[in-house]
Amino acid sequence: MTDRISEIISGQREYFASGKTRPPAERWAALRALRSALVEREPELLAALAEDLAKPAAEAYLSEIGLLVREIDYVLKRLPLWIRPRRVRTPLLSRPGSSRIIFEPYGVVLVIAPWNYPIQLSLSPLLAALAAGNCVVLKPSENAPASSRALARLLHETFDPGLVKTVEGGSDTARELLGEKFDYIFYTGSKRVGKLVLKAAAENLTPATLELGGKNPCLVDRDIPVKTAARRIAWGKFFNAGQTCVAPDYLLVHREVRDELTAALREAIEEFYGPEPEKSPDYARIVNRDHHRRLAGMLQGLRPVIGGGGDESRRYLAPTVVPLDSTEHPLMEEEIFGPILPVLAYRDLEEALALIAGRPRPLALYLFSRDRRLRRRVLRETSSGSVCVNDTVSQIINPELPFGGVGESGMGAYHGQAGFETFSHKKSVMVRSFRFDLKLRYPPYRSPLKVLRKITRFLF
Ligand code: NAD
Repeated sequence: MTDRISEIISGQREYFASGKTRPPAERWAALRALRSALVEREPELLAALAEDLAKPAAEAYLSEIGLLVREIDYVLKRLPLWIRPRRVRTPLLSRPGSSRIIFEPYGVVLVIAPWNYPIQLSLSPLLAALAAGNCVVLKPSENAPASSRALARLLHETFDPGLVKTVEGGSDTARELLGEKFDYIFYTGSKRVGKLVLKAAAENLTPATLELGGKNPCLVDRDIPVKTAARRIAWGKFFNAGQTCVAPDYLLVHREVRDELTAALREAIEEFYGPEPEKSPDYARIVNRDHHRRLAGMLQGLRPVIGGGGDESRRYLAPTVVPLDSTEHPLMEEEIFGPILPVLAYRDLEEALALIAGRPRPLALYLFSRDRRLRRRVLRETSSGSVCVNDTVSQIINPELPFGGVGESGMGAYHGQAGFETFSHKKSVMVRSFRFDLKLRYPPYRSPLKVLRKITRFLF
């Protein structure tokens, strides 16, 4: 495999050096080809997602294929603007002259993707990398094998391997890839592996983006339309059976509305999935037995008020809501990444904010409140990758908003222009004229410091 991997990379280095990835027309052609392939192969991709995660077709279309097609359209439309060198001011000392920032592709980039949205989380970074003029090696997740195969086929039949190449495999393959030198690494997955990826990147001084997970709090104030809030929370939590990096991980509810909200969550879950969610075609499955066991283990000794049941052999776990009296529970330690929603009640906002501040910074924070002062305070006093007020998850579908974490939930961002910029080196260029040469800057320095202090603000 090592030989094959180094051959793939040297093939891509040649392709990149030929300059073929740089002309805007080539980039548009690549993005258009990807768009057509996604549209043509929609049935095959939906079938792969159904096989891996029993993803309901509507969820798969909305969150993977539809989202990607829309992002490609958005990028195609705006790329001419983003690609243009950005002119900036030139200080007096360097005039006559001009300054600009050129967006230069890094070269050969590695994208490592996870299993939960296996198509979207592979192709969204890939399309940003292509828009920026790079060659891409993609390593999809071995935990979504049907999607990995479908992706490999789609990319193989759409692109020259010098431009895009899929390398399928598990952690051994990922380690081998990381042993090679890339010009940029884009990783999406767990914190544990994220640290290994960053270490490997450091060996070659390769810049990297890490899109990680975390425990996303969902703070619910008392003065809200409870039914609408419950529907939006249940949708974001149980979409893809809770296996969403930006799903609300736990609820922090004002004690005065806890019971009402729990009842509304029960209603919403029944409205979405019927009285027996295992029979609903609209409810996904847990990715594999190991994850099912991990999630079932988290529920031990607890009494869910909604759901709780499951079937390991069919990888089914019911949409589950569990009240908690304290944060001292395994459910409040690790990211849940499944359809279990713990509910903690708070008495006052200080208490809730202290709980959030005492934990690593999450990928997303949700707040349900009508109170503008409270919203401002939560925005000011918390830090997270993104915030969505009065809804869950939907902030990530806006390509105008950069998507990424902060602190332990990741570093760097993408989507829309942020994706283009992530995969571009911002090269600073200054061009001087020979016309005028300010003597002041050359030795021997004759101007006294007193004078320099006065004039520097005009010169810089
Ligand atoms: P995973 O098991 O699919 O792993 C992710 C990728 O890392 C895979 O391609 C895998 O082969 C590779 N990998 C495994 N071991 C490796 C190693 N030693 N070195 C290098 N690569 C290795 O997915 P996961 O890690 O279970 O993903 C779930 C996590 O990802 C959750 O924490 C979730 O919150 C997070 N996530 C984050 C985002 C985001 O956009 N921020 C999106 C989805 C998932």
